[in-house]
Amino acid sequence: MQHFPIFLNLNKRPVVLSGGGDAALAKLRLLLKTNSKLTVFAATPAPEIESWAQSGKLTLIRRPVMAGDLSNATLFYAADENPSEDARTAKIARDARALVNIVDNLQDSDFITPAIVDRAPVTIAIGTEGTAPVLARALKAELEARLPASVGPLARIGNSFRALAMKLPAGRARRDFWADYFSDAGPKALTKGKAAVKPALNTLLDRHLSRAARPGHVAFVGAGPGDPDLLTMKARRALDEADVVIHDRLITAEILDLARREATIIDAGKEGFGPSVSQDDINALIVGHAGNGAQVVRLKSGDATVFGRLDEEIDACDDAQISWNIVPGITAASASVAALGQSLTKRGRNSSVRFLTGHDMRGFADHDWAALSRPGEVAAIYMGKKSARFVQGRLLMHGADRATPVSVIENASRPDQRILETTLATLPADLADAGFDGPALTLFGLAPRAAQSLSHLQMETA
Ligand code: SAH
Repeated sequence: MQHFPIFLNLNKRPVVLSGGGDAALAKLRLLLKTNSKLTVFAATPAPEIESWAQSGKLTLIRRPVMAGDLSNATLFYAADENPSEDARTAKIARDARALVNIVDNLQDSDFITPAIVDRAPVTIAIGTEGTAPVLARALKAELEARLPASVGPLARIGNSFRALAMKLPAGRARRDFWADYFSDAGPKALTKGKAAVKPALNTLLDRHLSRAARPGHVAFVGAGPGDPDLLTMKARRALDEADVVIHDRLITAEILDLARREATIIDAGKEGFGPSVSQDDINALIVGHAGNGAQVVRLKSGDATVFGRLDEEIDACDDAQISWNIVPGITAASASVAALGQSLTKRGRNSSVRFLTGHDMRGFADHDWAALSRPGEVAAIYMGKKSARFVQGRLLMHGADRATPVSVIENASRPDQRILETTLATLPADLADAGFDGPALTLFGLAPRAAQSLSHLQMETA
């Protein structure tokens, strides 16, 4: 970095420019944005310069620069577009100890003028040390498009609130407050007019003060089966307040979008049989963030208490003396049985229902197959795709009816939900044919309700 960027305070400082043509105009348009004391030397000034002089924006002297003219100058611009004249005036300026910029002559200049994105008081200076002016212009255009004009007023109003924001502890709490202001509360308030911004800052500060007083905490939140409308109000509130969200593989993007924009989102996804983040690493992540004072949401699909390895994470919190709570969610069995238009329990059919996992940490999971093989039994089998043949074999061995209805619901509650209607006899083959690749729940002992009411139901959810 040969040229070091700094922002110079030009308030009431003398700045002098020599030249009256296009190069001079380009520099003057920028300099007129400052409160410097601007003097222009030009024997034949462009009309714009004349009118700026008339309106008192600058002092115009209608002759070339001479020795002694620049004794006070902070900055001097040689903008005559004439190398020998520029060299002459630059020498006078240097003798007077001014910093010199010779337009289009990087080599002989003390400083260069960057490309500027002006959202005063927010200013971005872009420099390429003269190597790529086209790139600098492209970057400027890109940044200008990205920075709304509201940035300037928001920064000005925010500045007048700085003393009050000191009530928040320095560091993360204060940073979060300002991030919230600039990305969310500020722009929202500004749409109602500048007068709405101060009250919004007060409200925001109250919110952050109560948050900052809280120690770290972990909420184990059930995110439901995927449809964001199936989140509970409590889950939404927890997401809204979370500093850190640590989520499962099955959590949909629509749900993650509901977290605050400033929240840190961490994917701790575990593939059923594939590569995984170890449970110890997940525990360490949760405890680490909460230990630093963060409000952590541990977001699990469905209900956090169903096949979610919740207890290991709770134990880790307890060991680290971190407070926690559980926010229940809608488990896949509830969403799936709703997709069938059925009940999980029914008088005269089944007075109990089992939630089984198709596989556990040791492989295919063993269960009380004899009990499940009796007529009328209903079971929701989680993670049951790969174990379909194993489950079928065990049930048939214990005398289950080959004609027992079985439904497999893929992506329950999501737009791409699919239902496979089959029987115990043909479950593995039909499941293989269906080629389900999303999360799927097997409902043993349940068929979709009569076709007519089901199509009615699908129309409603479509
Ligand atoms: N805690 C979750 C279950 C986690 S185990 C819950 O309560 O739902 C992961 C298994 O849940 C998947 O293999 C699948 O069997 C089931 N599952 C999760 N989301 C599902 C969905 N949208 N549709 C069907 N099954 C789903």
